[in-house]
Amino acid sequence: MTDSDRDERLTVVIFGASGDLTRRKLAPALFHLHRTGALPQMCHFVGVARSQMSDEAFRASLLEGAEDAAGNDSSWTEFASRVTYVAGSSTDDDSLRQIDQTVSDHCAGGRDNRLYYLALAPSLYPDTLEALGRCGMLDETSGFRRVVIEKPFGTDLASAKDLNQVVHSVVDESQVFRIDHYLGKETVQNLLVFRFANTIFEPLWNRNYVDHVQISVLESLDTEGRAGYYDRAGVLRDMMQSHLLQLLALVAMEPPASPDADALRNEKAKVLQAVRKYGIDEAAENSVRGQYAGYRDEDGVAQSSATATYGAIRLFVDNWRWQGVPFFLRSGKALSEKTSEIAVQFRPPPHTIFDNEEPGITPNLLQIAVQPHEGVHLTFENKKPGTRMGTAPESLEYHFPEGIIRDAYERLLLDAIEGDQSLFTRSDEIEMSWQVIDPFVESWQKSLRSQLFPYERGRAGPAAADEFLGEDRAWRMHGADGS
Ligand code: NDP
Repeated sequence: MTDSDRDERLTVVIFGASGDLTRRKLAPALFHLHRTGALPQMCHFVGVARSQMSDEAFRASLLEGAEDAAGNDSSWTEFASRVTYVAGSSTDDDSLRQIDQTVSDHCAGGRDNRLYYLALAPSLYPDTLEALGRCGMLDETSGFRRVVIEKPFGTDLASAKDLNQVVHSVVDESQVFRIDHYLGKETVQNLLVFRFANTIFEPLWNRNYVDHVQISVLESLDTEGRAGYYDRAGVLRDMMQSHLLQLLALVAMEPPASPDADALRNEKAKVLQAVRKYGIDEAAENSVRGQYAGYRDEDGVAQSSATATYGAIRLFVDNWRWQGVPFFLRSGKALSEKTSEIAVQFRPPPHTIFDNEEPGITPNLLQIAVQPHEGVHLTFENKKPGTRMGTAPESLEYHFPEGIIRDAYERLLLDAIEGDQSLFTRSDEIEMSWQVIDPFVESWQKSLRSQLFPYERGRAGPAAADEFLGEDRAWRMHGADGS
């Protein structure tokens, strides 16, 4: 350890520390990072929420969430001794001054680096940021000040712009980490490696060889008691604007010239900029939506609710590489399986000389399983054994070994602590994503229930979503036939 390392102090301040995200995701991730020695030696954690709680009670609540990670591990006691709880509001100056004092006390004699994590309801982001600024807690004279902002970032283009304006009034973009935990997933990062560390796929990765791309993020669970929140968001705001558009950007972007965060984010932003922006009628023509049976009986949902719990949209990336190639994005709740996957379907050969009973052959398909069964799956044609010269699809696949994939929050927390913004969304990316999604939101609101297809829980979604793909295309799912 160098002298300068010895001087470094880090405090992770979590606002919204009594909430679900802290307990289920942040506490296990921070504990694991601490246990594996990934965090600075002099690291402290301060939880903030309005509920009155002792340090001991707070630590016990964290252990509840981290039980799987902590088990009987003695290092939990050491981790817990670094945890403090402050009861107070993130928007109240007196509370913030108390937190500031607590952190400064921990850092006496060393450099006072801080990561503020806003695990709060999004409506609290502006007031919290302004209060942090007002109390001088974002000033970087004595150490870095970084702010992690959870999703959703805005509810449409206008609100995202307003929020970006507040953010930039108190911090520089280099201090901001807008988190989309999908980007922390090993398989999502593997997409970059797969594309840019191999030479055999990149020459085919364009309109000349790719017929269409499917990006699916499907959930088997319903709204799990959070229907009140979900009913205001729906599938477009909850999933499409963030996770699915980020996946699209990674699939479609050009190779960045360097590993720098900005080089990567520039390329993603260029893709989002090139995504065709629809008018309201075009958005209606290029989408289909559904609602699962019984959704309107859930707490917090009106009987007249037209909120879509399933959506499929067709996008085009208007640039040289992707002109005319449809990108189908779909997501939904209460479906038959929980799975996230990217499927790149290549064009069929232009002419067939083989003796198949059914005319034509199965086009090549590359599937990237984001979760579960994380890995890659390539389908190709092979000779069907026998006396005829027929063909049949076979596959090559690789799956990451069980148990080696770490939770996305671990990677992202460490990146934020280390100041690496590569896997965080920049302000322009967020605004461009809303520009893509807003016409769909407007169009779906306009036609309300007239085009909202019901579907049974535990099924693949509304039948209309299958027709939406067009002739000769089917939804693909590794290990399933797309149903
Ligand atoms: P919760 O409602 O479970 O927790 C929010 C916490 O904020 C509560 O514990 C509340 O505690 C605290 N809080 C409310 N007002 C204040 C205030 N003024 N000052 C300080 N603390 C306050 O929400 P989640 O943990 O589920 O979500 C937090 C954020 O993370 C949201 O933006 C959500 O969209 C996002 N997110 C959550 C995910 C999850 O899996 N839960 C996944 C992805 C994103 P108290 O009443 O004691 O103040």
